[in-house]
Amino acid sequence: MDISIFNAKYLKKISPRVFSFVNKANNIEELRKLLFDYTFKAEQNANEDASDDASHIARIRDCGTALRNIIKKSSEDAAGFSMLQALWDIGRNQDRPDLKPAFYADLLYLLLGLQGQAPRKALDSIHLTAIKSNGRKAARERSHQLDNLWYEVDRRMAAYPYGLDEEAVVRRDRRRTKILASLGGTLEDWQNWRWQIKNIIRTPEALEQLVKLSGQQRKALKLAQKNKLPFGITPYYLSLMDDELSNRDAAIRAQVLPPMSYVKEVATIEDNSCLDFMGEEDTSPQDLITRRYPAICILKPYNTCPQICVYCQRNWEIDDVMASGAFAGMEQVEAAIEWITDHPAIHEVLLTGGDPLAMGNDTLEAILSKIAAIPTVERIRIGSRTLVTMPMRITEGLASLIAQHRKPGRREIVIMTHVQHPYEITPDMVAAVDKFRLRGIPVYNQLVYTYYASRRFEATALRRYLRLVGIDPYYTFNTKGKDETLAYRVPIARILQEQQEEARMLPGLARTDEAVFNVPRHGKSYLRSREYRHLLSILPDGARMYEFHSWEKKVSQETTTFISTDVPILDYLQRLSKDGESVSDYETIWYYF
Ligand code: SF4
Repeated sequence: MDISIFNAKYLKKISPRVFSFVNKANNIEELRKLLFDYTFKAEQNANEDASDDASHIARIRDCGTALRNIIKKSSEDAAGFSMLQALWDIGRNQDRPDLKPAFYADLLYLLLGLQGQAPRKALDSIHLTAIKSNGRKAARERSHQLDNLWYEVDRRMAAYPYGLDEEAVVRRDRRRTKILASLGGTLEDWQNWRWQIKNIIRTPEALEQLVKLSGQQRKALKLAQKNKLPFGITPYYLSLMDDELSNRDAAIRAQVLPPMSYVKEVATIEDNSCLDFMGEEDTSPQDLITRRYPAICILKPYNTCPQICVYCQRNWEIDDVMASGAFAGMEQVEAAIEWITDHPAIHEVLLTGGDPLAMGNDTLEAILSKIAAIPTVERIRIGSRTLVTMPMRITEGLASLIAQHRKPGRREIVIMTHVQHPYEITPDMVAAVDKFRLRGIPVYNQLVYTYYASRRFEATALRRYLRLVGIDPYYTFNTKGKDETLAYRVPIARILQEQQEEARMLPGLARTDEAVFNVPRHGKSYLRSREYRHLLSILPDGARMYEFHSWEKKVSQETTTFISTDVPILDYLQRLSKDGESVSDYETIWYYF
């Protein structure tokens, strides 16, 4: 990807109008006013131009709104950076070494958009053309176009590995045989979740006996080991990795193999509580309880998992894989349940952790029956990734144990899981999900929109397959702005682009997820709703800075907002380019704010 055009000289060449205002203005305040007028005028002209299509007008309007937001005095104060000053300096040939190519790129596309020069189509290969005829003829022409559109969408989704493809199933069977031989287990052992836990791979040395690692992966794991970072992979999940190094299983490896950037960042942290991005310590009215919403609370009785996800939201309190002493103890759990009983506003309890399904049946049943005994609880959600990390945990007995607390018309039991990629879906997972579904327990997915799920139509493919498996897409999370997870982060603009240009191609029942940004201490802010965020600035390194409002905006006098710095779009595109993606396929990303 050639980024040499993203500089001051090219920006001025492309946007002579904007820089004529810079030359005309006597001071920054005058420039602010001239640019405000310019954006309004551009929108007005677009509205009056009858030949322009609606989406084109909308793009000009979006760019106008974005630029006005950025140059507002209050935005500049909040961001601690003045775009107007940057424009002023660029226009007057002042040296600004702080402004990076990613900054020029974002500003360039913004100004092009305002000038009506943004791309009109999302993708060249996916578009419908105007139909001049009427009636049946028009319907047939349109039907033909829709056929072609879907074929292209289908072709793009098929580019991603899917764990139910016959080839993948055979490959994983071979992997299982190899792992079993190495660990000295039988097929029967493999299907026993206790055996899986007993044989969790906990060290880089043990891992390397069973899978090839790249030099970087090995180095990062060694450093993680040296710094005692939690690490663990179930034999089952290990069987999902390919034998040889290839990009096919990148999403699987990224879940459990920490990149060097993560290890280095976390290794320097002395107090883990600074990793508590969501500020859970400030939203816990009682030990083991977190409450952010009026009718829901989280109950965390168990602080560990059979496998450690690298970018775990609770990495600040999970010390080790299947750590002994992870269960808070029945006394504390009972106190937490008593607290819920004393708060009848709470109608829904999310049992999470850690992974509560990594507890034994007896403990789980003791907790579930106590929650179910609270008269005001209408829904129990169980957050578990065992469907992905250890699906053999979902035995007939476990599914029945959970299902017995379901009382149609009175209490619902649901499973919340986290499938990250179509390559994670396996026949074992399908069978496990089915055990729940056959007992009337719905299963929902919460996708974290990481780099490894973010190529064109990759998450779309996931949604499609999830529905076939019996899992409903529920949330798509923006990766939290944690420094240590930089390697996973994707610009918010990409999530918005994906939702509108890709997910929209699926039937409604397969795109039921809501894209959200989690506001610390408050909870989810819906990304589709613009009133819950403002673009404050494009910072010198090209990162967009947003101000988020929480869901409480409509019901609270308190106007607490949260400022978050995104990852630069150009950096993201460069990485995609290095990984073989055609960056022109993503060009409209710049126009999602
Ligand atoms: S399953 Fe959830 S709690 Fe457990 S390591 Fe993964 S993200 Fe963290």
